[in-house]
Amino acid sequence: MENMMEKIVSLCKRRGFIYPGSEIYGGFQGFWDYGPLGVELKNNLKKEWWKTMVYNRDDVVGIDAAIIMNPQVWETSGHTAAFVDPLVECKKCHHRFKADKLQVQSCPECRGELTEPKKFNLLTEVYIGTVEDSKTRAYLRGEITQGVFVNFRNVVDSTRIKIPFGIAQIGKAFRNEITPGNFTFRSREFEQMELEYFIKPDEKNGQVIFEYWKQERMTWYLSLGFTKDKLRFREHAPDERAHYARKAEDIEFNSPFGWSEFEGIHHRGDFDLANHKLTYTDPEANSEFTPWVIETSGGVDRAALFLLINAYFEDGKRVVLKLHPKLAPYKAAVFPLLANKPELVKVAKRIYDDLRKDFYVAWDDRGNIGKRYFAQDEIGTPWCITVDFDTLKDDTVTVRDRDTAKQVRVKISELKKYFNQTLEDKK
Ligand code: ATP
Repeated sequence: MENMMEKIVSLCKRRGFIYPGSEIYGGFQGFWDYGPLGVELKNNLKKEWWKTMVYNRDDVVGIDAAIIMNPQVWETSGHTAAFVDPLVECKKCHHRFKADKLQVQSCPECRGELTEPKKFNLLTEVYIGTVEDSKTRAYLRGEITQGVFVNFRNVVDSTRIKIPFGIAQIGKAFRNEITPGNFTFRSREFEQMELEYFIKPDEKNGQVIFEYWKQERMTWYLSLGFTKDKLRFREHAPDERAHYARKAEDIEFNSPFGWSEFEGIHHRGDFDLANHKLTYTDPEANSEFTPWVIETSGGVDRAALFLLINAYFEDGKRVVLKLHPKLAPYKAAVFPLLANKPELVKVAKRIYDDLRKDFYVAWDDRGNIGKRYFAQDEIGTPWCITVDFDTLKDDTVTVRDRDTAKQVRVKISELKKYFNQTLEDKK
């Protein structure tokens, strides 16, 4: 399975999904850059999330808050005090390790003696201002969540939304992780997609809504093509829960490095709004209360990584990324059978220009058809369209399906309908 990670990392670099950050300077641990195909995959994933969580619902609105906030936010939220990991340090090589993840008593690097666990804050500090000695210390946000809470009143006052309602957000978060690793799984800069859902404080209602969001989120991931047996829920033990959580369950993926979290569903109670001294007035009952929050907090990078792993197949010499067409960077690729036949190139170009008005489409006229198929399979392009000499006679093209390698003839004028129909069928 280690081998699997090497294959994914290598494919990501070779084909332009993910590169090591600042690579020409030797990289920078915990930072990654998304290439031309990676940005498409990530954007498609975020678009699907936003569609499901905001556009398809009446009770959710979106926001996009600033990454750097008044440092008071992090004092009040409890992060400066509690956003910590207990660490041990090797007395010999000075490497640091998370105390709770260590299974041995000595340093895993050099077998040296370890210190007692010490707390280490995960917030990344930044200094704001131009004059050296009067700069203000602030933080890059450690979770995007607080940007929602500090705008709770603004959203209530500027929209017609009423409890129960949610605020959705997608954005970057930063954590000074002690041990970044497993490719993008644990990075120091990453993206989150979160919903904070505000409800009336009520034990039973809280449980029902927590359960509802758990199921909604699992259903959504399955709709993206994750296979059922590779996903599971895992409930946090009381001593494992974050400082704000009354109840927490993770959605985990069976990855090459073991079952691993990529989304958390958290019952935050009134912890955040009470800390920020924010309340809600029910306009009908005219009663004031502090709402409770059920949160769904997903990692864009972890979901993208697990989708890539989930989609990776080897079929003889063929490597196929069986990404859901909704997520695939290119929806189709267009080829003229021969690059040196202007009559074929002309028709192929016309199809390419027409399709790209609606989909992101690739063009390839290099080498032979077999090589072009290989290249598109490896990046997950669901359909390849070839213009050949029959096209010139009957206006049909060959459409070849990535997963089955089966080919059908489709009329040029029916292509969009064909793709839309197949997309519909794969829902
Ligand atoms: P972990 O236990 O793995 O450190 P966490 O429980 O601290 O994760 P949360 O605070 O619940 O994570 O954050 C919600 C989501 O944000 C996670 O499920 C994950 O997808 C993403 N996430 C958190 N930390 C990182 C990271 N260092 N790199 C990439 N994604 C992350």
